[in-house]
Amino acid sequence: MTDYPGDVAVDEEIATISMACPHVLLLGAGASKAALPNGDKNGRSVPVMRDIADELNLTQLFPGDLKELAGTDFESAYSRMFERHDAGLDELDRRIARYFKRLELPDGPNPYDYLHLCLRDKDAIFTFNWDPFLVQSRIRLAALGVSKFPKLFFLHGNVRIGFCVRDATSGIAGRPCSQCREPFVPSNLLFPVEKKNYQADPLIVREWAAARYFLKNCFMFTVFGYSAPKTDLDAISLLKGAWGDVQKRQMEQTEIINRPGSDHEALRETWDPFIHTHHYEIHDSFFESWLAMHPRRSGEAYRNQYIEARFIADNAVPQGVTELEELVAWFRPLLDVEFAQESTSSAES
Ligand SMILES: [Zn+2]
Repeated sequence: MTDYPGDVAVDEEIATISMACPHVLLLGAGASKAALPNGDKNGRSVPVMRDIADELNLTQLFPGDLKELAGTDFESAYSRMFERHDAGLDELDRRIARYFKRLELPDGPNPYDYLHLCLRDKDAIFTFNWDPFLVQSRIRLAALGVSKFPKLFFLHGNVRIGFCVRDATSGIAGRPCSQCREPFVPSNLLFPVEKKNYQADPLIVREWAAARYFLKNCFMFTVFGYSAPKTDLDAISLLKGAWGDVQKRQMEQTEIINRPGSDHEALRETWDPFIHTHHYEIHDSFFESWLAMHPRRSGEAYRNQYIEARFIADNAVPQGVTELEELVAWFRPLLDVEFAQESTSSAES
């Protein structure tokens, strides 16, 4: 409902597409925890890095002097093993890949489905997560007729994603590349953390190049469930480099979605290099974010609020939906406008 002339009503938000710059979403392990608080479809837990040795029973694979470290700082322990060329590394890699590959999204609508549906094809999702949930969500939404998706990039590799070096394309690991028909080679998952050697894996090199491009050009940067741990220093400095000098950014908005009750001041400090003056928000739930309040139109809403200084009504995504079909149907009017605009512009050109 529009109450005053100049306000942006929901109908107008749905009907108007004007933003070409990308919205960039960065996902950390906290996103999977928030999306699957009770584990996957079969009750398997989705471990975060610091719990991985215990939850996957991996401690026994570490040499005696690293067993304790493996329980407290898995990545550092892994790094040391890597430096020693320890024979147990392959088995570690195999077990982690096997565990994550078996994880499955529960049947009903999941935050991962919302993330896909709330962004447009100009937008990008970057994830640090190895779990297969983004890929599974995309496959099942595509089966329901959704065809416009944000681009996906896997900053630390992924159990479902592989790469074709010859054609520099990624796809589902093991399936044939559409160019050369050779199967996509599974990505690495673990990197020695002390010097995360991203250059050694061609998929990861490409993903980070994409991160630089998208972060440089985005109007909004949303961080969901990533606390920028100290073990990720290289990753964070790469992100900072891509974002550039915060003083030179214009009006970009940074929003942080974290678990309820998290320390907002600490989060603000962590992400300070990504925050332009007061242009940031911290949310305790995805459903409070720009993505969920202005699905598929976050850029237009941002422009209306911050540049046009108009009052904007929220077009909040529905919560408590039990069927995926029902959720997709809710997004249909938004998608229809995008298809209509596309056919108009292709008819004009
Ligand atoms: Zn190929």
